[in-house]
Formats: sequence, C-alpha cells, structure tokens
Amino acid sequence: MKLRIAIQKSGRLNEESMKLLKECGIDLGNGINKLKAEADNFPIEVFFLRDDDIPQYVEDNVADIGIVGENVLLEKDKKVKLIKKLGFGKCRLSIAVPKEQNYKGIKSLNGKKIATSYPVILQNYLKKEKVKAEIHEISGSVEIAPGIGLADAICDLVSSGSTLFMNGLKETETILKSEAVLIGNNKLSKAKQEILNKLLFRIDSLRAAKNNKYILLNAPNNKLKEICALLPGMKSPTILPLVEEGWSSVHSVVNENMFWDIIEKLKAKGAQGILVVPIEKMIL
Ligand code: ATP
Ligand code: ZN
Repeated sequence: MKLRIAIQKSGRLNEESMKLLKECGIDLGNGINKLKAEADNFPIEVFFLRDDDIPQYVEDNVADIGIVGENVLLEKDKKVKLIKKLGFGKCRLSIAVPKEQNYKGIKSLNGKKIATSYPVILQNYLKKEKVKAEIHEISGSVEIAPGIGLADAICDLVSSGSTLFMNGLKETETILKSEAVLIGNNKLSKAKQEILNKLLFRIDSLRAAKNNKYILLNAPNNKLKEICALLPGMKSPTILPLVEEGWSSVHSVVNENMFWDIIEKLKAKGAQGILVVPIEKMIL
C-alpha cells in the first residue's frame, strides 16, 4: 500500500515540494522518471503533473493527496479537502490597471474588460462587490493584455510586483492571499490515512523546528532563577554546572519570533557566551 501524492512537474512549486519531501526523509533517489517516482524508505509514490490538473486527479482518486497553490484549489473548485497550509509559494491574486488610469476604487471597473486566468475567483469577487465587468479568460502572459488593447485591467498572481511594474501596471485590489497547500481526497482508506498521518507528523516537526532555535548560554548561579524564567524550553531548561565555580551552562529552545527580545533580556541579567543553533527536526 502506497500513498500517491501529486506535485507540480515543473514551475514555481516544484522545487519546494521536492524539498519538503526530502526534508521529511523521503528518498526518491532511485526510480525517478518524468512521470512518477517511488521512495524506497517510505510508502509513497510521487506523480509529477501540471498544477491545474492536480485538484481533479485528487478528486478522481488518481492521486490521494497533492500540493497546489490555494489559488488553483479555489479556481478549480473540486471536491477535495484542504489538509494543511505549507508556508511556501506565497503570492496574491490582484487586480491591476495601467498606471496612468485614473482609478477610483473597484467601481471604476464597471463596464470594463478584465483579462485573467482565474475567471471563477474573479467572477465571485466581482459579484460580491456588485461590479459588472466583462471577464476575458486567457491562459498565460495576462500582464500584456492592456498593452495590446485586449483588456482595460487584469487579474493575476503577483509576488514582488516587478512584472506589473515592467508592464506599466499598478496593483489596485488584492482578491486573495495564497500559499501552497496540501489537499486530499475526501474518502481516504484507513491504511492511506495512517500513512498520511505519518507524513503530517514529519511536516509538523519540520515546521516547528524552523520556528525555533536551540540556545546555550553561561549564567552566574545567583541569576539562574531569573534567567530560566525567560527560557521556557520544551519542558524546562537544562542546567549543567561549569568547571568554573559559581557558573552554570543553560540550554533551552526559544521561538524565533521572541528571539531578539529574549536575547536582550538575557544579556541584561548577566548571561554570557550565548550561542544560538538551528534545529533540524523538533518532535512535539
Ligand atoms: P503548470 O505548467 O504546472 O501549469 P503554471 O505556469 O500554471 O504551471 P507556475 O507559474 O509555476 O504555474 O505557478 C505555480 C503556483 O505558484 C501558482 O499557482 C501560485 O500558487 C504560486 N506562485 C507563487 N508566486 C507566484 C508568482 N509570483 N506568480 C505566479 N505564481 C506564483
Ligand atoms: Zn498551471
């Protein structure tokens, strides 16, 4: 029994999807070809597909799970479930107009022609905003549509905004914030669900590790209590005596978001020789 996962064959999500599997300890070294790959050390089979096709394959039970952008998930509107947001492939789906256009809010789009590869999401948005515009669906290079007189505005994926800028466009509305997500078939067998749970456990361990750092420092014994109060750790900090009388070594785990704040407070309490080390995996 193998869990079948569909990932993008080539494009912006391919590299990060492969990296995620690798960091989960899944070794696709052997048996990799253009269409699919099998791992020797985990019951998983990887299918390489166009991202647009992945939701359909997962709904149809050709693949059990898949990785796609939320934008694709919403556009395709298939009967699959969103299992987990993965934290990469971040972008937004936005409306942009030529920069010289006198844009006064979403109502300016009434009666206009908007080019997009996301007609479903755009249609829902326009309906919600009570705007009547004509949607012109094109499959690629949406950003050139206004320049060649095909549309008055576009609705497209943006990350840095440099493509819009280079095409003389300005971003006016953000419709959707998107990132890569793990999706799954609605009726996974018990055996497949168990494999999926193992995979999810590994993904969670990776993500927890990325958000935390291992910290080591030397502390004078008379300040230990105050210093430990700043370092919650996974259970509580570890304290080891130093050879030098009156000093201890303290080990703990801190959250990246609180990191600089804590370091300053630790120094103020007399901590010395502070080392901060990345964590590879963290089992919660
Ligand atoms: P395919 O050949 O698989 O159909 P594609 O050309 O449709 O590929 P890509 O451009 O590789 O797709 O983008 C894949 C996904 O990457 C997008 O659906 C989106 O979720 C995400 N993404 C992240 N940043 C951006 C960006 N700046 N522009 C476009 N997509 C982005
Ligand atoms: Zn695509």
